[in-house]
Amino acid sequence: MKIRRLVCGLALLFSLAGGVRLAAQRSAEWTAPFPPFRIAGNLYYVGSGDLASYLVATPKGLILINSNLSSSPALIRKSVETLGFRFSDIKILLISHAHFDHCAGSAEIIRQTGAKYEVMDADVPVVESGGKSDFAYGADKGMQFPRAHVDRVLHDGDTVQLSGTVLTAHLTAGHTRGTTTWTMDETEGGRLLHVVIVGSPNVNPGYKLVGNTVYPQIAGDYKHQFDVLRALPCDIFLGAHGGYFGLAEKYARWKAGDQKAFIDPAGYTAYVADREQAFEAEFKRQSSARK
Ligand SMILES: [Zn+2]
Repeated sequence: MKIRRLVCGLALLFSLAGGVRLAAQRSAEWTAPFPPFRIAGNLYYVGSGDLASYLVATPKGLILINSNLSSSPALIRKSVETLGFRFSDIKILLISHAHFDHCAGSAEIIRQTGAKYEVMDADVPVVESGGKSDFAYGADKGMQFPRAHVDRVLHDGDTVQLSGTVLTAHLTAGHTRGTTTWTMDETEGGRLLHVVIVGSPNVNPGYKLVGNTVYPQIAGDYKHQFDVLRALPCDIFLGAHGGYFGLAEKYARWKAGDQKAFIDPAGYTAYVADREQAFEAEFKRQSSARK
């Protein structure tokens, strides 16, 4: 019995150490500078090693997707300026979802640029309360962020347009109530390319999929999300985190001259299937634990 307890204790210690290592590694990538570059057409990468930010450049100004951490605006600004654009030309700010790693920098970016903040309806209360109304993390001070006023409330299927560039907001809820997957079309080398920026299909540790009294429709929302993601045509696969689509590996290929490094329809299909399987497994586990 004693030995068993010791082994369990050691296993726990090792897994805790692994968790801490993982967290440290993750946050290092979250704040590590990453070279800004043009993905396709008028779409650019201006995020960090893992927290993805995208810049859409039009003759009438810039659209930025994701403001990331409250410490990120300086890094994003540097990337935008390195590409030759003016930070103050950001007219519209969008997000993938209302978690601090994608929207905590919004208040500061709006202060610096006067950009209009356009957010999916169900994420608006979370953004405007600085995370306090989040269904899972509302009481967790470490997950809160500077609140920011939303100028335009988006609904599923709404478009954001600037000088002929059109982005479409797809409600892909579950991870947050208003998680948004952005799509747009780009032309590169005479070829039309469908771009998908996945909002987040992940079930976070501790998420209650069964019997969730705060967010009763969470499991149905995830299922709907996978229906939506499976149906989206995708050539260029992107997402809220670089880790979703293999940013570092694809960028290395892009830098070595592979112009098509980010064209990855098979990677998109495999990613969505993998995430759906992970959701189904967790849903099954929680459902049978409840019986
Ligand atoms: Zn998140």
